[in-house]
Amino acid sequence: MPASPSLRPRRVVAAITAVALACAPIFATAEPPSVSDTLPQYGAVGPPPAAPITLPQAYPQRLPDLGDVSQTDFSPAQERKLGETIVRELRASGGYINDPEVNDYLNELGHRLTAASTDVKQDFEFFGVPDQQINAFALPGGYIGVNTGLILLTQTESELASVLAHEISHVTQHHMARALSAQKDSMLMSLAGLALAILAARGSSGSSGDVAAGAMAATQALTLQHQINFTRENEYEADRLGFQRLDAAGFDVTAMATFMQRLQSAMRFVEGSVPTYLRDHPVTYERIAEAQARAYGHPYRQVVDSLDFHLVRALIRSYQGEPREAVKWFDDAIAEHKYNNAIAAQYGLVASLLRTTDFARAKRELAKLEKMTPEHPMIDAIAGHVLLESGDVDGAIDRFGSAVARYPNKMQLVYDYPDALLKAGRNADAAKFVEQQLVRFPGDGPLQLLAARAYAAQNKQMLAHRHQGEYYAWQGNLKGAVDQLEIAAKAKDGDFYQASVVDTRLKALRREVADQNKSAFGRQGLDMQGATDARLPVLTGVKH
Ligand SMILES: [Zn+2]
Repeated sequence: MPASPSLRPRRVVAAITAVALACAPIFATAEPPSVSDTLPQYGAVGPPPAAPITLPQAYPQRLPDLGDVSQTDFSPAQERKLGETIVRELRASGGYINDPEVNDYLNELGHRLTAASTDVKQDFEFFGVPDQQINAFALPGGYIGVNTGLILLTQTESELASVLAHEISHVTQHHMARALSAQKDSMLMSLAGLALAILAARGSSGSSGDVAAGAMAATQALTLQHQINFTRENEYEADRLGFQRLDAAGFDVTAMATFMQRLQSAMRFVEGSVPTYLRDHPVTYERIAEAQARAYGHPYRQVVDSLDFHLVRALIRSYQGEPREAVKWFDDAIAEHKYNNAIAAQYGLVASLLRTTDFARAKRELAKLEKMTPEHPMIDAIAGHVLLESGDVDGAIDRFGSAVARYPNKMQLVYDYPDALLKAGRNADAAKFVEQQLVRFPGDGPLQLLAARAYAAQNKQMLAHRHQGEYYAWQGNLKGAVDQLEIAAKAKDGDFYQASVVDTRLKALRREVADQNKSAFGRQGLDMQGATDARLPVLTGVKH
C-alpha cells in the first residue's frame, strides 16, 4: 500500500501514481485491464522507439568535459551511482512503486536468492514498477526492477523467484559492464549523456526540481537499458546460474521452464507489440528445453508459497482499473473460487473496497478476513487503514501502534503509525516516534517527510525545514535541500545543538552540489573548466 506520508489517503496516492504513469512517455502503454481478463493487459501500443537524447531546455552554460569515453570503463562505484540516479528519477516520476509492502516483499524474496550463494559480492535493491507491461530489468549497480504486470503473470512464488534469479545472475556476471564495453562508443556515450542531462535538470531547477526533464532522461535511460544486447551466451549463463540460485534458495526448480512457457502463451494475447521482457529475453524452445532438462532428475520438491506472495499479488490487483471494477473482480473471483489463495482474495476485496470508500462493507469483509488468517503485518496495516479512513483515528492508532511493536521492520507500519498520530493532532508524539525511527533507518526519505510534517504542525521552523531539506536530498534534489537548510539556518527557534546540525549539513550539501557540478558521477578526467559550448553537438548528436 502506498504509504506516502502525505495527507492523501494511500488509495488516492495509488490512483495518482497510475495517472502520472499514464502521462509519462515511455509508460504510456499502460491501460486499465478489462475485469474479465485474469491476465494483465498489455497495451496495444508498443514502447516508443528510442528517442535521441534531448537535453533539458535550461541547460547549464558550461558543460563538463566527457573526456575520451571510449577509453574509460565504468567502475563498480560509478555503476552504482548511475543506477542510484536512475532509481531516484524513477521515484520522482512515478516509475517506482510507492508501496513499502510490495518493495519490502521483493527485497525479502530477492535477498533470499542472493544469500543462497557465495558469488554475490555486492548490494542489491529490488523494487516494483507500476506498469502493466511484462518486464523485469537490472539497472547498473545491482538495482532490479520488476513490473507489476510480471508479478501478476506469475502463478507461484518460485516462478517470480526464477525471474529475479535470472536478473541477479546478469548482475553477478557483470553482463551489463561487458555489454557496455562491447558497445562502448555508442552506449557508454549515451549513458554518460543521460547522466549529464539528469544532472543538468537537477542543477538548473528550483526547489521543486525539474521533474519532467529528469523523468524524461530516466525513461530514456531505461529505453537504453533495454537496448543493451546481452549475448546469447549471457542469456544462457543467466539461465544456468539463475537455475542454481533458485535451487540453492529452496524454490521449485521446475518453475523456470513453467514461467517461460507462461510467457510464451501470454504472447498470444499481445496485440501489435511484443512485451519488453520478451524482446530482451526471447523465449525459445531451446531455452525452455534447457530449463526442463536442468530440472529433470532433481527430486520433486513440494514448495509452499508464502502468504506474502499471494497478498502482494492481490494488493497489486486491487490497484487495477476503476475502484468498482476492482471490487467486482474480487467478488467474482471469490464467488467462482477462481483464486490461488482464499485469504489473499478476501484481502484484495477489502483493499478494493477501501478504494471505493465503502467503509461499511470494508469493515464486514475485514471481519471475515481476520477470522480466516493468523496475524500478519499486511492484515494489521489494512485493518488500521479501514479504521483510519472511516474516521476512527484513535482505533487506527491503537491498531498501528501494537502492530509496529510486533513488526518493527515493516516500513508500511513504521510510516502508518506516526501518520495516524499526526491525523489525531498528537504532533509531539509523532515527532518523538519518527526521531526514534530515524536512528534505526537513517536517511529514510518518507521518515524525513513525516518529521517535517510533525515539526511544521508544532510550528518548529528550524526542525521542519531541516527535515524537509533532508527529504529533498534523499530525492536527489540537492538544490532544493540547500534552499530548505538555508531557511532552517535563519530560523531563530532552534537550540545551539540543532543550529550546529543544520550548519554542518548545509556545508556538506553545498560541497555535494559543487562536486556534482564539477563531475558527472565522479568519472575520472571530467574537466569543468575546459568545457565549452562547442561540445554540445557531441552530447546531442548521440545515435543509438
Ligand atoms: Zn536475461
